[in-house]
Amino acid sequence: KEFRNNVKPNWCPGCGDFSVQAAIQRAAAAVGLEPEQLAVISGIGCSGRISGYINAYGLHGIHGRALPIAQGVKLANRELTVIASGGDGDGFAIGMGHTVHAIRRNLDITYIVMDNQIYGLTKGQTSPRSAEGFKTKSTPEGSIENTLSPLEIALSAGATFVAQSFSSDIKQLTSLIEAGIKHKGFSFINVFSPCVTFNKINTYDWFKEHIVNLEQFPDYDPTSRVAAMNKIMETGGMLTGLIYQDRERQSYEELVPGFKEAALAKQDLTLSRDNFDKLLAEFK
Ligand code: SF4
Repeated sequence: KEFRNNVKPNWCPGCGDFSVQAAIQRAAAAVGLEPEQLAVISGIGCSGRISGYINAYGLHGIHGRALPIAQGVKLANRELTVIASGGDGDGFAIGMGHTVHAIRRNLDITYIVMDNQIYGLTKGQTSPRSAEGFKTKSTPEGSIENTLSPLEIALSAGATFVAQSFSSDIKQLTSLIEAGIKHKGFSFINVFSPCVTFNKINTYDWFKEHIVNLEQFPDYDPTSRVAAMNKIMETGGMLTGLIYQDRERQSYEELVPGFKEAALAKQDLTLSRDNFDKLLAEFK
């Protein structure tokens, strides 16, 4: 299964996003997908380029809007495996409204955020994930804002799958993306993906020092929402691994009344009064 294409990424050498690209390609192959069964939808930012670097259906969307597009793709063709991706600025600033509602809606989509704690494409401004005191061109005296905690937000919004990983740990990252694709519902995967050009604080070495791998806690129970929230707070959101999974809750597609068995994209939608009436009748 070949998910590589001949487009050369124009990320800076050493950017964490390379590993995310490779992990998506490996995970898609490991779950047995063919390129025509996968759609990768991205937002804007350095990370947003990823949809062009994977041999699959791809759409490089608009800023903060990867998830509305991904949800539309999934609703139109539930037979596709849909991966949405973007950066922390894309998903947690302009796109945060979509992120929260997509999480609680629970469509069967895997959402991968490349969290580098800065805006890279626009050459280094403070993002919602930057630490208090973080100095950039937009906060020359240091950020006075609180850092947003995506894992806490995802859990609070009712996520059925929450995981976090690190670009340097491609084995863990691949297996989490694989698990996210297999999960029947919305999978939220936050990835520490260093921006080597503009973020000189949250470097690979910094993450290696601060990350807490859940493997250290053999008794940890990822089916408990309370345990997950406690562990996130205890570790300051730095833990990696599968943090929470609810295998019981049905996905949006399974719950929506009148949702036709055959994918919308496969139906005869030739515009005729008869077809239109049939389509309306399905949603009654
Ligand atoms: Fe990666 Fe940063 Fe370069 Fe963008 S600016 S490609 S995030 S290293």
